[in-house]
Amino acid sequence: MFSSVWKSVASGIETQLTSYYFRVQKLRTVGFRGMHSTVEDVKLIGFDVKILPALQDNYMYLIVDNKTREAAVVDPVDPELVIKTVQAENLTLNKVLTTHHHWDHAGGNEKLVKLWTGGKLDVYGGDDRIGAMNHKVCQDDTFKIGDLNVRCLSTPCHTSGHICYHVTTSSGTNEGAVFTGDTLFQGGCGRFFEGTAEEMYDALCAKLSALPDNTKVFCGHEYTLQNMSFARHVEPDNKIIQNRIEWAKLRRASKDPTVPSTIGEEKSWNPFMRVNETTVQKHAGGEANPIVTMGALRKEKDNFKA
Ligand SMILES: [Zn+2]
Repeated sequence: MFSSVWKSVASGIETQLTSYYFRVQKLRTVGFRGMHSTVEDVKLIGFDVKILPALQDNYMYLIVDNKTREAAVVDPVDPELVIKTVQAENLTLNKVLTTHHHWDHAGGNEKLVKLWTGGKLDVYGGDDRIGAMNHKVCQDDTFKIGDLNVRCLSTPCHTSGHICYHVTTSSGTNEGAVFTGDTLFQGGCGRFFEGTAEEMYDALCAKLSALPDNTKVFCGHEYTLQNMSFARHVEPDNKIIQNRIEWAKLRRASKDPTVPSTIGEEKSWNPFMRVNETTVQKHAGGEANPIVTMGALRKEKDNFKA
């Protein structure tokens, strides 16, 4: 009886691993101009997310609804690669989701609109400084990508108009994805250029933490190894962090992206999402205050050398 329980647990884990590896498809034929990472296609239930590397360490994402083949692009700073991929995959691109106004995220919007010949593009964003924006959104605004639902989360701090986009299927399978720009990174968060520790606490520990744990997190930069090195410095005894570092080193050795993670995983290793944990509070100065801890961690990370 005992061993049969273990057998079924083991085979469950194996199935999960197998399905993960089989559902990530490499598309090495697209994008080979000395990019920082390979192009990958992550298959979720009801939709695909194509990871498109850009600049030195940015990620753009193509969200593709399986049913209608309608697509939206997140932060298209390299419009040529976006257009090439959309044409190669025969997709109907009609939406642009901008996380924030910084040039390495929003800087390709105007060029994409100019080059795009496939019909009108709806350009979403939460900040008047975003080029070509024609749909300004705020907290809890919703819209569709084909059959997929998108809900906007207002997460000011890195910039005052930062938006994260939560994408789910209409069938309610609960396997969603969130596009977090420079608010939440794997193992870290963005600098507080236009906001406060309270605001980042609200973004990470209230709004993003409230999403289902299995929500996939697609962030704006490949910063995982640097961030996880700081996470290890904050929590040297956290085995989950150590294991993720080993995994991420292997991925980066072959230029594989480390995205996505999940909300549940971020809660287990990201110090900025763990400011309610005693270990993290102690490291940051001993005060049992998550917001003071958030501010102290950010200050320390700003000067941290991996
Ligand atoms: Zn930024």
